[in-house]
Order: sequence, then C-alpha cells, then structure tokens
Amino acid sequence: MITISSRLQRIKPSPSSMAGQRARELREQGKDVVGLTSGEPDFDTPENIREAAYQAMEDGKTKYTDVGGTPALREAIADKFRKENSLEYSKEQVIVCTGAKQVIFNAFMSTINPGDEVIVPVPYWVSYPDIALLAEGRPVFVQSTVENRFKMRPQDLEEAITDKTRWVVLNYPNNPSGAVYSREELAALAAVLLRHPHVMVLTDDIYEHIIYDNKKYATIAEVEPGLKDRTLTVNGVSKSYAMTGWRLGYAAGPRELIRSMVKLQSQSTSNASSISQAAALEALTGPQHLVGERLKIYAGRRDYVTSRINKIPGLHCHVPEGAFYVFPLCQGLFGARTRAGQTIENGDDFVRHLLDSEMLVALQGAAYGMPAHFRISFATSMERLAEGCDRLERACLGLEK
Ligand code: PMP
Repeated sequence: MITISSRLQRIKPSPSSMAGQRARELREQGKDVVGLTSGEPDFDTPENIREAAYQAMEDGKTKYTDVGGTPALREAIADKFRKENSLEYSKEQVIVCTGAKQVIFNAFMSTINPGDEVIVPVPYWVSYPDIALLAEGRPVFVQSTVENRFKMRPQDLEEAITDKTRWVVLNYPNNPSGAVYSREELAALAAVLLRHPHVMVLTDDIYEHIIYDNKKYATIAEVEPGLKDRTLTVNGVSKSYAMTGWRLGYAAGPRELIRSMVKLQSQSTSNASSISQAAALEALTGPQHLVGERLKIYAGRRDYVTSRINKIPGLHCHVPEGAFYVFPLCQGLFGARTRAGQTIENGDDFVRHLLDSEMLVALQGAAYGMPAHFRISFATSMERLAEGCDRLERACLGLEK
C-alpha cells in the first residue's frame, strides 16, 4: 500500500503538461493531431548560447556550484536588473533555480504557514494556486473581466487582502491572457499594497521581453520603490531565449527571503545545472538581437491568429499585449450541439469537441480560472497556426445552434 500525503492530494498535475502529453500520445498512435498547447518558443536556443554550454563542459564546469548560483551568473542577473529594470540588487539578493517554477516553489515553501493566503488574479498561470496549496496556503482568487482587459482592479485587490494575506502574485505579460499592466495601472495597485505592509509581492516577469506594439515593460518594484523590500522579482531564460529545457530561472528580492530560498534549495535540488548556468550567463550578457527578431515573428502570428478567430461566429478574441497565447471567449457557442448530439455547455465541452471533431488540442479556460475561455499558444509555425485555425473554424461551423 502506498500512502500519498494529504499535501500532495490537494494538487493536480499541470493541465498544460498533461495536454502536451496527450497530443504526443495521439501523434504516436498515428493520428493527425494539431496541438496548440505548447507554452514554449518553437525556436531553437541561439547558437552562441549552445556554444557557451559546450565550452563550459570543455572547461570542466561540470561540478556542483554554489547552491544559489555561480557568482558570475548572479552578478550578470544583478546587472540585468540594473540595466533593464533600474533595480539595484547585490548578488546576495539573487537566486538561481531550476526554472522560474522552482523560484515560485521555493518562495512559497519558505514563507507560507498553514492557512496563509495567496492572492492570485484570474486568469492565472496554472501553477500558482497548486504551489500555494502544496505549501499549505490558501489561494484567494480575484476575478477580472474581458472588458477590463483581464486586469485586476485596485478595489478588488483591496477587498481581497486580509490579515492572513502573505503574498500577492502578479504576472504580466500574462499567461494565458497576454495582459500587460501600464505604469499607471501598476502604481494604482502599488498604492493599495503600500497600505498593507504585511503583504509580499511576487511578480512573475518571465514574458518581459515578449511585449508588443513598442510597449515598454515596467516591473512593480521599479514603479513603486516603496515595495522593493517586500517584492520578489521572478524571471528566467526559458521564454526570452528559447531555453525551456535548460531549466533555468532566477529572482531577486529581500536578502532574508533569498537566504531562506537558498536554504530550502540546499535540501532539495541544490544548484541549477552548472552547464545551464554557463549558458544563461551567455544569454544575459551576449548579443540580444534575436530576442527582438523573434518578437516580430510572434507579433505577426498574433495578428494572424486573432484576426482569424474573430471571424469565427461565436468566438471572441482579445488581442494580447504580450506573451504568446490567445485566450478567446467561446461562450457564444454554449447551447450549440455537436453532430454527435452533445450540447456544448462550457469551455471543457468546447475543447473536447475540438479534439473529437478535428484532432485539435487546445487548453480549457477552467485550468486558468475562466471556464468560458480556451487557450491557444501561437509559439508555433505559421503553417501549423493556419491549419489550427482552419480546424477551429470547421469545428465551430459544424455546430448546430
Ligand atoms: N511563469 C509563467 C507565467 C509561465 O508561463 C511559465 C512557463 N509555462 C513559468 C513561469 C515557468 O517557467 P520555467 O520554465 O522557467 O520554469
């Protein structure tokens, strides 16, 4: 008999990882599947970064490093924060982890006591609530609306804060909605947070460089320096440099918090891979032109996908300001019937219909806290996107009202 801890029973496997696996399984069975679920760039890791990894191996950088990351990488991260975000951190205020996901895990695990609350704006990246639950915390959801461009309103944040609030999570450009807060909007949220000094802020800036229409990115500790002492600014190389498989994320924040996260990591994974750290050092300090070139490609795909979806009766797609996802509303099709006689009642039914009728894999909005939506990733080739949009259109037109 294997006993599973109650802590683990509180959480579910990541729906995006599961959907990706499902698409791979169907493909292995010879099915003509189009999967638009992938939360990672379709591009290769740039050559200079791969070269740096080979060189690290040649140079014998294959041993344990400091748990919190090599001094060289932590310095480079502190430089990145100084140059790009006008944030001053010493290298003791920086931690390197095995992906941004582990940064968040370390942060919650080292600060949350049973029953502490974590405010998670909706829609949210699937892992925030589950990592909070794993840490025996309680996610508290703050709704947003399409009309509000999926952004949390200051008054809703104010209402959600209690004596038990430990963290507020911010994530913009947002996965799944692509929402980006302007400086003014951040200042308004910061004004609420300044009134509640017991609340810490975790800002997940992983899509910082994937931001459209020449918008300039601003992170909350930069907009409101009064919050810097209680903000953990999370980032990583996965999305900006197409390095998801290298598993390298990082953060900067208050010294004591970083020290606790390093302590936790010393008893779990130890340092992130030494080779990935060398590669990340090159990513942050080497040529940056590919980041901008790839952004232009994403922008073209974004325009294509949103305009195709907005032509499909029953769907409505907001144009994302950043990241590489669209999060259309499919409520207009609720009540419609499939050829097999099933009624579409929610986003789960809709996503199932896409798979059953067209072998198109998308993700159900419920996984992100908004069940009337679904998520499509456009981090894939134009050809696949065109095929995906054709299938989406056929699946919708095939429904009977
Ligand atoms: N935060 C968000 C919002 C993400 O979408 C992802 C990846 N899907 C992560 C964090 C995790 O990034 P990493 O690969 O660095 O663990």
